[in-house]
This record gives sequence, structure tokens and C-alpha cells, in this order.
Amino acid sequence: MSPSGAEVIRRIRSQIDELDPSEVKALNGEAVLLDVRESEEWDAGHIPGAKHVPRGYLESRVEGVIGSDRDQRVVIYCASGQRSALAANTLKELLGYENVASMNGGITLWKDRGYDVEVPVSLSKEQRERYSRHLLVPEIGLEGQTKLLNAKVLLLGAGGLGSPTALYLAAAGVGTLGIVDDDDVDLSNLQRQVIHTTDRIGTPKVDSAEISVKAINPDVDVVKYQTRLDASNIMEIIDGYDVIVDGVDNFPTRYLLNDATVRLGIPVVSASILGFDGQLSVFKPHDGPCYRCLYPVPPPAELAPSCGANGVLGVLPGTMGLLQATEVVKLIVGAGEPLIGRLLLYEALGATFTELKVRRDPQCPVCSKDPSEISDEEMGVFPDYEAFCAAAG
Ligand SMILES: [Zn+2]
Repeated sequence: MSPSGAEVIRRIRSQIDELDPSEVKALNGEAVLLDVRESEEWDAGHIPGAKHVPRGYLESRVEGVIGSDRDQRVVIYCASGQRSALAANTLKELLGYENVASMNGGITLWKDRGYDVEVPVSLSKEQRERYSRHLLVPEIGLEGQTKLLNAKVLLLGAGGLGSPTALYLAAAGVGTLGIVDDDDVDLSNLQRQVIHTTDRIGTPKVDSAEISVKAINPDVDVVKYQTRLDASNIMEIIDGYDVIVDGVDNFPTRYLLNDATVRLGIPVVSASILGFDGQLSVFKPHDGPCYRCLYPVPPPAELAPSCGANGVLGVLPGTMGLLQATEVVKLIVGAGEPLIGRLLLYEALGATFTELKVRRDPQCPVCSKDPSEISDEEMGVFPDYEAFCAAAG
């Protein structure tokens, strides 16, 4: 006689580790919490910080959501502790995750104990449709899309790099886009600055960018700063942003930006372009090197690409700007491996990508210090920009 369903479940439950909600709470983030209920149940409320894969999709999706490390600690929960027990068994026996437990009593008992439950913001019907291709990606899903909608990203420059970045971040549903640029749209910009149009020549770039962003996605709140970033305004402008996209074309501002973001703990996705070559890296304060660790001293003025007009392949800022946008989305939703401590070099003529490791400098004048010890006077220490370029002749 074959065993009944209830007997099978009983046997499986006797073979897996089961934890009480109090024990799960005491883990305090030391384990990956995995919710295996259906999407409607998840949307009605879940444990903060938990990840979600409906049990029916476990085999195909779980690795994309919790990663492939078979030794990591995973605690699975459902509504009552039954589906999670079966899922724990699958994860262990079929997929080889070694350190798996099921939470006894599920989220029902968790709630009874008075522990926190997070209810995700629900998307409107229009938003569900607009972001449907994100919602289908397990690494993003409703949780990631919610993070994008709540995110504040600051773009330094609405030029070559800022144009594609702004357009795609707007399309992706980043809720707030700040744009800093003091220039007007010029005919010579249009070869690469695709956010602007011929009929907007002569209008401020921040206004032109806002028109394009709003046309793509009215969900996005655009905050305009028609100014040049300098020591007097930088702390005020960047404070409160989650990620900064650096597309500035000069070294003094890069150093100033670095020092200010290390002080405030804001990650910077930085790119630069010249001719057919592009560079990209992510500077996340104290998680990896900062810009000064990479470039302790600025290049000689005569080699600085910022002093005057330089040629660039019009497509190149598109390539690099979209790599920046990709890193921004990854940082916001917390997916994948951000380009921290790595410098990516793209050489368009040869069609090659090269990656260099960048290490944190323990003697770095900025990021080796406690952020509170960096004074206003020390910030952005660099020769005066006009003088710096004048010296280049
Ligand atoms: Zn540093």
C-alpha cells in the first residue's frame, strides 16, 4: 500500500530542519529568507527582506533569486509550514542546497507573534502593464520594480552619457531623476546627445531632458538643477540621492564629487569617453576603492580631455551610458555583481572589453578616513579649474 499524502508530508517534515519563528527572527538577517507562496499571497504581505519564488517555479527560478552558493543558510516559509517543508526538501535533495530549514507555522505564526510584515506598494493596472517585462524577471519582479519606483537617481550632465542613461532609467521607472546641467542645447550636441532634439536648440538642457523623460514615462519625477556643480552647492544637491550617475567631463568635478559622495556614503556609477574608448566603474564608498584610490593624482593638464572640445564617436556615449544605466538598476534592485573594484575598458575600434582590478588604497587621503573626519576644506582639493586648463595652453 502506498503512503498517503499526509504520511509523505509527515515523513519529509521529520527529515528536514524546522525552526520556530522566534529562531528565524533571532537570525537577524544571517540567513536568506525565501517565501514560496503564490504571488497573490506574497503581495498581501511578507517578511521584510525575504525573497520570493512560488513553489511551482522553485526548480527553474530559485538559483536566479538566491544565488548558486550551496552552503549559504536558507530558511523557507509559506503560510503554515507545509509547503515550505516540501520546498526545503526539494532544495536539499534535488538542488543540493546543504543548509536549508523550514519555518514552523509559516507567516501565520510569525504574524501571531507580532513580528513585522511588509506589504508591497501595489502597482496600478497601467503600471503592471508598463513594467510587465520587469515583473517577469525573477531578479526584479514586483519587489525590484517597487524599489525602482521609490529610487532617487541623480544624473550629472544631460550630455552624451546622461542622455541614454536618463532615457532608459525613465523607461525603467526610476521614480525620481535629478538632472544637473547648466548648458543649453547646441547643434553640435545632437550627434550623440539623443535626449535632445533639433527643435530644442537654444533651450536649457535640463528643460529639454525633462520633456523627453516625461514623454516616455509620466511616472518619473524630474528635479532640475540648472547649475554647475561646485564646492558651494554639491553637498546640498547630492544629499538624499540613492545613486549618482557621473557623466561629468572634467577632473576637478570628479574629485569633488568623489570626496562628497564618500562623505555621504552615496555610490557613484562613473563613465568617461574619448575618441573610440570608454571606461566604466562603480565607486561604492567603503565597499570598494574610491575615485582617488584609482587616480591618486590627476593627469597632466595637457592630457586632460576636459579642456576644450574633443572628438568622440557619436555612438560611444550610448554604449557607455547604457552600461551605466545597467549598473544603476543593479544597485537599486540589489541584483548581480556591481562593477565595484573593477574598471571596465571598452575599445570600440577593436570591439574589445578589458577588465582591470582596482584595489582600495589603505593610504587614500579620502576613503581611508572616517567620513565625519573629512572637512569642507579637504573636499575636492584640486587646482582651480580655469587655471588648470589655462596652464595646458
Ligand atoms: Zn579612496
